[in-house]
Amino acid sequence: MPLDPSLRRELVDVVGPAHLIDDDRRASYEIDWTGRFRGATPAVVRPGGTDEVAAVLDVCRRHGVAVVPQGGNTGLVGGSVPLAGEVVLSLRRLDAVGEVDREAAQLTAGAGASVESVQQAAARAGLRYAVDFGARGSATVGGSVATDAGGINVLRWGGTRAQLLGVEAVLGTGDVVSRLQGLVKDNTGYDLAGVLCGSEGTLGVVTAARLRLVAAHEHTVTALVAFADVPAAVRAVATWRSSLDTLDAAEIVLDPGVRLVAGVLGCGLPFDRPAPVYVLVEASGHDDPTDDLAVAVGAVVGVLGVAVASDAAGRSRLWRYREEHTSSINTVGVPHKYDVTLPIAALAGFMADVPAVVRAAAPSATTWLFGHVGDGNIHVNVTGVAVDDPALDEVLDEAVYRFVVACGGCISAEHGIGTAKARWLSLDRSAGDLAAMRALKSAFDPAGILNPAVLLGQ
Ligand SMILES: Cc1cc2nc3c(=O)[nH]c(=O)nc-3n(C[C@H](O)[C@H](O)[C@H](O)COP(=O)(O)OP(=O)(O)OC[C@H]3O[C@@H](n4cnc5c(N)ncnc54)[C@H](O)[C@@H]3O)c2cc1C
Repeated sequence: MPLDPSLRRELVDVVGPAHLIDDDRRASYEIDWTGRFRGATPAVVRPGGTDEVAAVLDVCRRHGVAVVPQGGNTGLVGGSVPLAGEVVLSLRRLDAVGEVDREAAQLTAGAGASVESVQQAAARAGLRYAVDFGARGSATVGGSVATDAGGINVLRWGGTRAQLLGVEAVLGTGDVVSRLQGLVKDNTGYDLAGVLCGSEGTLGVVTAARLRLVAAHEHTVTALVAFADVPAAVRAVATWRSSLDTLDAAEIVLDPGVRLVAGVLGCGLPFDRPAPVYVLVEASGHDDPTDDLAVAVGAVVGVLGVAVASDAAGRSRLWRYREEHTSSINTVGVPHKYDVTLPIAALAGFMADVPAVVRAAAPSATTWLFGHVGDGNIHVNVTGVAVDDPALDEVLDEAVYRFVVACGGCISAEHGIGTAKARWLSLDRSAGDLAAMRALKSAFDPAGILNPAVLLGQ
């Protein structure tokens, strides 16, 4: 599908010939991280600044050509790849990370800067960027704002929206909005940054963000705690949430997933005697929280074993049993991914019953469960199911999402709706909610060129 010559000329005029890719190098921009979503694009355009983003969108709008903004392409819901022949707008060149304002504990980063590069800049200044997740090295600031990325520290610090003090973005209308001065209190009119955060590239293209930083702690301790069952683990986390004010993270993994990770990495299991359920818990503070964590772990019932580490190498040895889940599951096969939140009271029941719900829809399926148990956010990954069978997708998706909603949960916790869940949005949002979202979409992107297949769908 070649690019229309006049469109090509105009795009090259904006970004220069080196930054319009319409040869074989497009391939890596056309397939998502999971390998499940593969599209085709006539061109990848790589603007170098906000003015170039605005000019590219202007050209595309005049030519009636749809655009998929793309950051690190680590999204898991088919929102970052050109499934309907869109032009890919790669923001990776906008990767500047500004000076840290130590007094305000803030920095401004370009949309293409990786989350890890923001973390590193914060650490060099003696501070910390609180958003953290496994894809930190590739996921970008723009992508994490667009998806309102969560991760492992939401429990203590909130997700990306909670760190966002302002954005610069080009709306679908062509208007540039920019509030990067980092005023902590500013309720002058609508919170445009808040609206753009989580809008998955459907309302505007984020080009920079002003981010809040938090105190870096001198002491961090990580423990992997083994339990006999999920209800005991969930009860323990609920207790720690209220008793441990240094608690940063509480992540759940199950025995089959831990064995898979150990097999893929070629490392041993965490304990001589395997347990059905593990919670990875992390606490940090200016004072060493190890004793408080030990007391908190000792105070809950059902603990079968504990491994503790407070040095970097030991902590990352424990974390790999959680962080390597996503990539280890990919070695089994291309997964169907469901990223859902449940009320805490319904979490254990959901985890017990969802494998049967999956099997009833797809008897050959294997269900893997893990996630951010402290937030009620469970990742349901399903392997052993064809990924190129739309009829099966439909049955499986409907079964899982209806079960989630029946349990009082929601169908997207932190990955977004993308194209994968657009069909199911009405299951957990009312007609009024959807009408308000559509009104926003037509106000911000009246020509419908920004990610038309994502979130609200066509
Ligand atoms: C191993 C692994 C672990 C993960 N763990 C987590 C986790 O714990 N928590 C979590 O929340 N997510 C997690 N993710 C998902 C993913 O990393 C996040 O959604 C991340 O925020 C995506 O960033 P990105 O730069 O890769 O965006 P992309 O994948 O490139 O894009 C994601 C969406 O944002 C849009 N977009 C991208 N950049 C912009 C921009 N500048 N302006 C407007 N729209 C834009 C895209 O069109 C797309 O709809 C994980 C992914 C992997 C592979």
